[in-house]
Amino acid sequence: MSARPDSLRDEFPLLAAAPGLHYLDSAATSQIHRLALDAMVRHETSSRANVARGTYRLAAAADLAYEGARHVAARFLNAGSADEIVFTSGATASLNLVAHAFGGTLRAGDRVVISVAEHHSNFVPWQLLRERTGIELALLPVTASGRLALAGLPELINRNCRLVAVTHCSNVTGAMTDVAALVEAAHRVGAKVLLDGAQAVQHGPQDVRALGVDFYAFSGHKCFGPGGVGVLWGRGELLATLPPFLGGGGMIATVTPQAATWAEPPQRFEAGTPPIAQAIGLAAALEWMMSLSWPRIQARENALCEQLILGLQHIPALRLLGPGSGQRASIVSFDIPGLHPHDICQVLDGRQLALRGGHHCAQPLLAALGVEACTRASIALYNDEADIQALLDGLDHALTVLR
Ligand code: PMP
Repeated sequence: MSARPDSLRDEFPLLAAAPGLHYLDSAATSQIHRLALDAMVRHETSSRANVARGTYRLAAAADLAYEGARHVAARFLNAGSADEIVFTSGATASLNLVAHAFGGTLRAGDRVVISVAEHHSNFVPWQLLRERTGIELALLPVTASGRLALAGLPELINRNCRLVAVTHCSNVTGAMTDVAALVEAAHRVGAKVLLDGAQAVQHGPQDVRALGVDFYAFSGHKCFGPGGVGVLWGRGELLATLPPFLGGGGMIATVTPQAATWAEPPQRFEAGTPPIAQAIGLAAALEWMMSLSWPRIQARENALCEQLILGLQHIPALRLLGPGSGQRASIVSFDIPGLHPHDICQVLDGRQLALRGGHHCAQPLLAALGVEACTRASIALYNDEADIQALLDGLDHALTVLR
């Protein structure tokens, strides 16, 4: 048992084994839940076989477990059907899949709108698509606090716009996107909406139908599951119209020496052997998440965020990035002029504080906010007041050491 009575730490093997660790880097990767590990070990030791090809009982068990995982992911997102769930290797792969499959239906002059606040994995695939096809890439600016600036929507999301691809939650500022306004503007001109949910899923199950979007992407390792697996959700009728991205086994209906025809989704988008054990582990993590009381957890995450923001206000010259509480998930980034985030994080590491400093794969956003790098604390459901107090004490210490 850990010495932290209220916390979920004991359910996370790494945290349970390291009671002194203050893990505040869950936006980069969350810790993995015991049930996810157990499910993977169970699969690997009792039902390991390739999927979709076998006729023997072990292969049937693997199929059952893998397809079961698809149903769990569908429930986690409130998808219309499990066939709308494509397993990928992570959010980056999901976003690239859309950039190739949906991107393959676009022509020179078609417009894709992204925002300045995107993670590079929702920036670069569209820049590459622009190079391949001559699409126009338009940028939604951000406000001074890093929120998407929606004032210019009608000009930006014009009749040429085919896709709006934005983050659900910024990995730097924690700013939550006003999805309804974007969906309304996009659908008015017949454009689709892709939401990068990489940072949102850690803070609770999502409802893609209530959000009204057309694609949703996320990674397993950011929502208490294993690495190497992710999800792309797409509306069934939309996926059915798209060409494949990768070619290989499992994604075809027929192959002749001359040509191939495609399997129906989701198999059309799952070429080769998928991450079977990882999908099963992810499903266990998602099942666990669906058993929790999220309003309580979110209130707790917000309270920890507030505790941190309040404490940071005592640090002279510190600049807090991002919007006020109520508009952000529990991610807090800041800049202390004259101190490099790498130095800050190194001093903090000496006190068992795990935080990340740098550009966080969001260089356009940092440039717009006027900083080159920042220090980021990201708070998840296993953090507690002791973690925040340790960070505030650690920053006081860093200031005396580094100044
Ligand atoms: N989008 C956002 C907002 C992210 O924070 C991340 C991960 N930092 C990604 C996409 C990419 O996720 P992955 O590296 O797991 O593919």
